Amino acid sequence: MIYLDHNATTPPAPAVVQAMVHTMRGTWANPSSQHGPGQDAKRALGAARSTVANRLGCKPVEVIFTSGATESNQMAVRGLLAAAAPTRQRVLFSSVEHSAHLRLARALAAIGVQVDYLPVLPNGKLDLVAAAGLMGPDVALVSLMAANNETGVLMPTQEVAHLAHAAGALFHMDATQWIGKLAFDFASCGADAVSLSAHKFHGPKGVGALLLRQGTAFVPQTPGSQERARRGGTENLPAIAGMAAALELLGNVADEAQRLSALRDALETGLQQALPQTHVWCQNVDRLPGTSYLRFGQLSVDVVLQRLERLSVAASSGAACSSTGTDPSHVLAAMGVAEMDALAAVRLSLGSTTTVTDVNTVLKQLPPLLAPVLVQELTTI
Ligand code: PMP
Repeated sequence: MIYLDHNATTPPAPAVVQAMVHTMRGTWANPSSQHGPGQDAKRALGAARSTVANRLGCKPVEVIFTSGATESNQMAVRGLLAAAAPTRQRVLFSSVEHSAHLRLARALAAIGVQVDYLPVLPNGKLDLVAAAGLMGPDVALVSLMAANNETGVLMPTQEVAHLAHAAGALFHMDATQWIGKLAFDFASCGADAVSLSAHKFHGPKGVGALLLRQGTAFVPQTPGSQERARRGGTENLPAIAGMAAALELLGNVADEAQRLSALRDALETGLQQALPQTHVWCQNVDRLPGTSYLRFGQLSVDVVLQRLERLSVAASSGAACSSTGTDPSHVLAAMGVAEMDALAAVRLSLGSTTTVTDVNTVLKQLPPLLAPVLVQELTTI
């Protein structure tokens, strides 16, 4: 199998699995228990927290372990909004946030919170002029992702953090797609709160963290004594140990980013040469190294994914599935992409498992499978 869906999730590293098994076998007691085994678990939790803090450039007290980025995102927005002054109750989300995060935006709007959306330009970049225009003294919080999970476009988070802070608001950053792929340092990233999820960097699923700058006013959303009373519930120590192990394994991300960018570019140009109907979105914009978001003419994504399946290539559509079928991507819609084009969107996301051979295999085998259907498509238009 050629796995080109690293933005959806990454395979757990062997050392991660080992750390989890080791913790489940040896340190399974409740870290809140006073007895010896409980205290051993507490120490293991502390050690994992120190590793995570060390690797992400924050203080151990700034790490709140969660069940992943979805929870971290919700916790950040709800927790920071609840602590904001009554005169500051407006929240800004970018229009291309992860679909779960936009559901939160709609849920907040439904209970009367004033929510505004930061638009993006046709090239997928955030519209900074519009963002500046939306700031004001009533804004509690701005929530913006570091990198988009569909297009891979890197967002101007430092600039938006600056705009937010100048308006007296806080800045939350969803760094789920960034961490593990590009260098990250909480101390200098400009955000007051940062979300991450371990399974995007070879850690386990169902665990992540919210990094919350020390001293930031925050109302806990899951009451309980754990995590310094900021997130209740017995800690998922095996998963937390797995996340720490995954962060420890991250080597020189710059070298890997360079390798993946080169592979991604070779894949894109190769496909464009073989099939001139190939359109790559955001091709000349700063993007995550391994992310490619493209369409082959207006060939339905289902047709393309079927062909990829035949070649044992795992990829994904850019669209969110709904009960009524497949909706066009909200990210492409926000960029002003026509619905017929958006319904053809395929995301190929390369990662540490991707080799030159994988790319060459796709380049050799995919065009002959797509060329006949593309010709058919042309003649039926
Ligand atoms: N934010 C972004 C940008 C993501 O890509 C994802 C995962 N696709 C999430 C949040 C949610 O992460 P999780 O499912 O681990 O909670």
